Amino acid sequence: MSRVARATINLDALGHNLAVVRRSAPDTNVMAVLKANAYGHGLLPVAHTLAPGIQAFAVSCTEEALPLREAGLQHRIILLEGFFDATELALFSARRLDAVVHQPWQIEALAAADLPHPIDCWLKVDTGMGRLGFAPADAKAAAQRLAALPSVGTVRWMTHLASADEPDRAETETQLMRFGELASTTSAASVSTEATAANSAATLSWPQAHAQWVRPGIMLYGASPFSDSSRHGPLQPVMQLEARLISVKQLPAGHGVGYGSRFVCPEAMPVGVVSIGYGDGYPRHAPDGTPVWIHGQRVPLIGKVSMDMIAVDLRTVPQASVGEPVILWGEHPHAGEVAEACDTISYELFCRLTPRVQRVYRHGGADG
Ligand SMILES: *Cc1c(COP(=O)(O)O)cnc(C)c1O
Repeated sequence: MSRVARATINLDALGHNLAVVRRSAPDTNVMAVLKANAYGHGLLPVAHTLAPGIQAFAVSCTEEALPLREAGLQHRIILLEGFFDATELALFSARRLDAVVHQPWQIEALAAADLPHPIDCWLKVDTGMGRLGFAPADAKAAAQRLAALPSVGTVRWMTHLASADEPDRAETETQLMRFGELASTTSAASVSTEATAANSAATLSWPQAHAQWVRPGIMLYGASPFSDSSRHGPLQPVMQLEARLISVKQLPAGHGVGYGSRFVCPEAMPVGVVSIGYGDGYPRHAPDGTPVWIHGQRVPLIGKVSMDMIAVDLRTVPQASVGEPVILWGEHPHAGEVAEACDTISYELFCRLTPRVQRVYRHGGADG
């Protein structure tokens, strides 16, 4: 048996989660967010699976967009940070990539460009996130200048919500109000009234943010966008991260486990070693007690995470034996639970998986 550190990607679960998007936002277009290798799930398999049911893809750079074109996908592709310098414009034009425009220099670069096809743009408005985008007071003039350029096609509107995952926060309403005023009163001919504001959290819990396009990411992959990880509702986890028990032995009371003996056995106990570590992207800062699934049960991680291994407390599953599968996240425990134990978010757990983790694609559950 060779080393097992494997992410099984259930493509049917992707389709199921897309149906949840559709039910939550029935009358909108869907821009599926596939940045960072589809949140670690694999760009092309995810894109091909979602393609028939969506209207656009969103990625962060041309390196992520071009493989989609090369795979023959004809969808609108939105680059969430636009072009990083003017030399990229020819590529945007030739490959029909949509640019998010968030800085004045980008408008000047488009004004100076001579392109075979105009580029469709999304004017990014900073309605409160404090990250990318034009201030609301400057946005309309920017959109109209943009729309008047020969190198620009249709101009649409985009903003990003800072707190949509916290349904009680008034900031989201404030952001939506600022945004709504802009998109609805647009006058210039090629500035569209089409707009997008909703990430997964807003797709699920802010119907007033849906507009014409929703931009779900994490919910497609079956993890909750909410800080309360139990709120994943009808979403199905797409990824199951799996390794194997490679050692089971009895340690005496007082024996340390792993580097620095962070965990010391309180009694004589069975300790398992699992074939996954921070070299695979499992979080090194996972504390004692982080849940791991063995033999149909949650068992606690113990001791510091090593590059290739973690240790687990097998007192509740003394029958567990070498070679047995170990689930790090999937249906049990949910990635959100592991993330919570590690004081991070499921997004980061998915993205940090290294190429050493083999991705296996299948239809149906990992046991099916
Ligand atoms: C990543 C991203 C999204 C998707 O967010 P989720 O929380 O994963 O749904 C949407 N919009 C922008 C601008 C993003 O960068």
